[in-house]
Amino acid sequence: MTETRHTKVLIIGSGPAGYTAGVYASRAMLEPILVQGIEPGGQLTTTTEVENWPGDTEVQGPDLMIRMEAHARAMGCEIIGDIITSLDMQSRPFKAQSDSGTVYTADAVILATGARAKWLGLPSEEAFKGFGVSACATCDGFFYRGQEIVVVGGGNTAVEEALFLTNFASKVTLIHRRDELRSEKILQDRLFKNPKIEPLWFHELDEVVGTDMPKGVEGVRARNVKTGEITEIPCKGVFIAIGHAPANELVKDTLETHMGGYVVTKPDSTATSIPGIFAAGDLTDHKYRQAVTSAGMGCMAALEAERWLAEQDLDSGKDTTEPLGYGAPVDAAE
Ligand code: FAD
Ligand code: NAP
Repeated sequence: MTETRHTKVLIIGSGPAGYTAGVYASRAMLEPILVQGIEPGGQLTTTTEVENWPGDTEVQGPDLMIRMEAHARAMGCEIIGDIITSLDMQSRPFKAQSDSGTVYTADAVILATGARAKWLGLPSEEAFKGFGVSACATCDGFFYRGQEIVVVGGGNTAVEEALFLTNFASKVTLIHRRDELRSEKILQDRLFKNPKIEPLWFHELDEVVGTDMPKGVEGVRARNVKTGEITEIPCKGVFIAIGHAPANELVKDTLETHMGGYVVTKPDSTATSIPGIFAAGDLTDHKYRQAVTSAGMGCMAALEAERWLAEQDLDSGKDTTEPLGYGAPVDAAE
């Protein structure tokens, strides 16, 4: 039999944005339900040391997320291991169908489904993920001080990551499949002026090579896309920067998105184009994509959901469906 659970606030996602929203919504006595999704704890569970979470000089990503989950639970957030498979944002209350068969109905929804780095899909890339292969220079660049590094990609992310990595690396090779970068000209200027960066045009990553004991990267094989010729490049770190994909499957056909699928929110707000639906974290953020900024947006979303709910006349039985337009943000001046 299908179970239906109603909540004032449904939080979808269990990364820093979702758990922080859970803490704040619980303290607002909204008795939120948080659905964790396929990756409980989110992206930080896929990394080791996190060195930029304020208050912890160093913390293991999975440990940090266990603590965030415990914090949200302690405040009263109900946390459920389930996956939302579809979200009806036209009906009131909002209706979320889940993988377990439970239907969650909610007066307000906080979307915190994050983003996923795109990967090339090479078996050797998968084998060395977390052992020299990364998709986050801000997170992992520090570990390659004085080493040679390879970056793959030609967009803003790849160029910014290559530039950032010169703070640590002795040399950065930027492998790009064309001889023209997609990134902004100003970033290209900086890249071409940087003596530590050497572009390798018309090449694709063919294989990451390394050792098993200890597990680590020793270099890459890059293939010339025109001639098929292989160039071997020694390096200790490989950063894949071929784009990030927001996990927007639930809302991409309904909510306004931009910059490759990131959910649009009102400036200085987490309000989306549908009143009562708020979005926080990497799902909306094409720019910073950090744990601390995601947590900050989770806080904002819960505060804005609380304010929005207080303004609704939910018990009168009248249809509260509103035309598309931004929900009311918390007034920063108050
Ligand atoms: P995510 O962490 O992406 O979490 C998304 C959540 O949504 C997951 O729990 C997932 O299960 C859930 N979800 C998705 N779809 C559904 C669905 N349909 N139903 C229910 N739930 C769903 N940032 C830093 O600040 N410092 C670092 O050192 C750092 N290191 C990183 C290392 C790596 C390898 C990676 C990949 C990222 C790193 N980041 C780091 C970035 C940081 O992890 C992200 O910015 C942050 O996790 C984003 O938080 P979020 O809550 O928006 O989403
Ligand atoms: P992107 O702009 O989509 O660029 C991805 C790059 O990776 C492209 O150069 C692409 O090559 C390459 N690529 C994609 N798939 C590949 C594959 N399978 N093999 C080899 N190369 C592959 O992604 P992004 O750089 O992450 O940027 C995403 C969005 O965020 C953009 O809109 C960007 O402007 C924005 N952004 C902005 C800033 C900023 O404002 N400072 C910073 C970062 C990102 P091709 O060029 O040949 O297609």
